[in-house]
Amino acid sequence: VKLYRATGEKKLLELAKYFVDERGTEPNCLAPVPGSHTASWQANYFQAHKPAREQDEAMGHAVRACYFYTGMADVAGETGDQALYEACVKLWDSIVRQKMYVTGGVGSCKYGEAFTDAYDLPNDEAYSETCAAIALMLFSDRMNRIEPDGKFGDVMERALYNTIMSGVSLDGKAFFYANRLECNPARLKFEQGFHCFPAQRQTGFGCSCCPPNVARVFASLGQYAYHVSESALYAVLYGDSVYDATLSGAQVRVEQRTKYPLDGKIEFKISTKEKPSFDLVLRIPSWASKWSVELNGKALKGAKAAKGLLKISRVWNDGDKVALKLDMPVVAVEAHPAVRHDAGKAALMRGPIVYCLEEADNGKDLNDISLDLSKPFKTKIGKGLFEGIPLIEASAFRRELKDWKGTLYRPAGASKLKKVKAVAIPHFMWANRGEGEMAVWIRA
Ligand SMILES: [Zn+2]
Repeated sequence: VKLYRATGEKKLLELAKYFVDERGTEPNCLAPVPGSHTASWQANYFQAHKPAREQDEAMGHAVRACYFYTGMADVAGETGDQALYEACVKLWDSIVRQKMYVTGGVGSCKYGEAFTDAYDLPNDEAYSETCAAIALMLFSDRMNRIEPDGKFGDVMERALYNTIMSGVSLDGKAFFYANRLECNPARLKFEQGFHCFPAQRQTGFGCSCCPPNVARVFASLGQYAYHVSESALYAVLYGDSVYDATLSGAQVRVEQRTKYPLDGKIEFKISTKEKPSFDLVLRIPSWASKWSVELNGKALKGAKAAKGLLKISRVWNDGDKVALKLDMPVVAVEAHPAVRHDAGKAALMRGPIVYCLEEADNGKDLNDISLDLSKPFKTKIGKGLFEGIPLIEASAFRRELKDWKGTLYRPAGASKLKKVKAVAIPHFMWANRGEGEMAVWIRA
């Protein structure tokens, strides 16, 4: 479909539609082959269990699934095929409402690198392949281009700032294939097999899809930051940038100055030699309970977002400035009651960034730490490796170890709790200080 857009060759779009139309029909060329290594797999591994337009639940290999859904959305967007689009809506909802980690990771199971049932989101066993988060970002991007809605950009940044960025070390030299939300290196010593990865990022893999995929995404982020139509510019992902667009026939340059996602202040400057009329559409993230917007230094009174989007329509002048301010308090989020792995736990978020506890700051046995949600969270700017990065300090409790004296079990209620300060770092920065425990979900 991309090649069709670049060349205008209709037969390329027809070929893409043919691939989508054929999937899951008879004769099924993607059915498991008896006697081959695919014999024990089911057709849903290949998303070939039923025709595309009848699929309503994300299934099978997560990377292949989200790439296929991206292709479905591309074909639906170009052809106006409503039945295909409606299947894409159901599949996207199936992922985001039931099968996505708080970090935007998908494909929770290492067997088949696959989606499992709704709400099955184990943290220490999470597969959550880097490529799968990238594929979810692509699928969300395509859905946003068909029917713009802030929820798509919300998922894109959730995947980008958490799972995709967690997939690479801060020095850019080592990578995670699987992106856990909890890690206990002592347990991992006993894991063996193709899909078992150590507690630290590695420089390469036998099947080394994730490292070049991360490089590709970082190199092409500009494609995802904005969507442009005839007379509207959609700001989807915020970040320091310069973007040139043609809007209502005029050349327009948009400069974005911001420290987002570390800070919620985003400034836009419009440069144009003409006076074009167009809509600047800003995404108001669903996590932003408080926000405000200014045009040329004056508050835009009565500004209202619809479907997570704020539209500013006007004739634009050279030098016009728009300032968006999104409040970024620390928020403890909980998961749906059916996510058994997160029951009684909370994850800390600030803006789009998910935080985690690491052994380096909090000692061993992170699962014994219990947040005191009656106390306010503090943020402080880190030092060294965390220079300029807001870290979270939370009031918490943990049990005294010294009176256990070799006991493994004892009647509950005998434990004394001691107050501790739990320090949380952005999840994407974990495993950059040597091997240690890590946990995103914390007892609360
Ligand atoms: Zn991969």
